[in-house]
Amino acid sequence: MSAQSPRNYRPETRLVHSGALRSQFAETSESLFLTQGFIYDSAEQCEARFKGEDPGFLYSRFSNPTVAMFERRMADLEGAQTARATATGMAAVTTAILAPLKAGDHLVASKQMFGSCRYVVEDLLPRYGIASTLVDGLDLEQWRKAMRPNTRTCFLESPTNPTLDVLDIGAIAQIAHDGGARLIVDNVFATPIWQSPLNLGADVVVYSATKHIDGQGRCLGGVILSTDEFIQEHIHTFLRQTGPAMSPFNAWVLLKALETLGVRVKAQTTSAAQIADALAQHPKISRLIYPGRADHPQAAVVKKQMRAGSTLIGFEVKGGKAAAFRTLNGCRIARISNNLGDSKSIVTHPATTTHQRLAPEARAELGISDGFIRYSVGLEHPDDLIEDLMAALETA
Ligand SMILES: *Cc1c(COP(=O)(O)O)cnc(C)c1O
Repeated sequence: MSAQSPRNYRPETRLVHSGALRSQFAETSESLFLTQGFIYDSAEQCEARFKGEDPGFLYSRFSNPTVAMFERRMADLEGAQTARATATGMAAVTTAILAPLKAGDHLVASKQMFGSCRYVVEDLLPRYGIASTLVDGLDLEQWRKAMRPNTRTCFLESPTNPTLDVLDIGAIAQIAHDGGARLIVDNVFATPIWQSPLNLGADVVVYSATKHIDGQGRCLGGVILSTDEFIQEHIHTFLRQTGPAMSPFNAWVLLKALETLGVRVKAQTTSAAQIADALAQHPKISRLIYPGRADHPQAAVVKKQMRAGSTLIGFEVKGGKAAAFRTLNGCRIARISNNLGDSKSIVTHPATTTHQRLAPEARAELGISDGFIRYSVGLEHPDDLIEDLMAALETA
């Protein structure tokens, strides 16, 4: 088998070809190696492979050819030396945060983040003696003040879930590095198509592949991207020995999904921009947030670090929870769910779902009001989505 790694090609080309391994049958499409283990020619070869002196595969908790193809394609797309796939996005986030740290270390994170990530940072780490400080990710002074001599990691997502705040990745990377810490960026909302945190100064990027990377509602998955050195020193052994491995089947689905990632994200973003414009002056909407619009509060940062807006829109309907629920219930094309990045448009009420775990004051602080709705734009015709949403807002 030989791997292709056309790094000098543009992202669209890499998404189709990078990492493809072909067997002796020279198949066109990447193969699904649905196998737990591998057979050795001899006991000597087996010994050599366990010693790391023979490059083949050992066991699918460690590595697998289909998973390796997905990892190579992701690394080439992101411009990272190495990628490691995990069973879910949360396995990727938890591993990237936890594996390099030990008791006595300290982490600083933006409090605007996905609910489960916040659990890891706020509840889980302190139980093992790793202190964490949450800051308003938009306030650079708060990041600076939170740094301690034992701060090893800074963590953020941008745009944030669900309020689409855009954090200055370059400036925060500088603060982290000045304090001797690394910056990990959860790049799910931006997608690798619109934002490349490693080029902006981040040290590690994580994704939930469940979102845009699959983008068709089928598989869970995650990925950690960084340098060979970081992965080797901090991630490699942890993943092998604790076992949050991606299934080869999921890797195969996600690998094929990468071929259309660029096409999908571009179409979804074009539609999202049209929908955001259509909502902007709506009398029943008190607040609209779309990173692609000039009225986004961090429009200058968007321009500096993102290649385009987003496939997601946030808006607040007047009339609180009751009006928000009527809007969700009134949508006929967009469906009520908690996923995002899907080819099917999805409406979510964060206050009662993804962020219900937070106390009402914590939600208020983040701008997640009872009237706030997150809209993930799919691949339907944008005019149908606009008509659907306008009709739903009539009932609000
Ligand atoms: C969904 C999501 C995750 C977790 O991913 P799973 O695949 O559901 O485990 C992490 N971060 C962000 C920003 C997400 O949206």
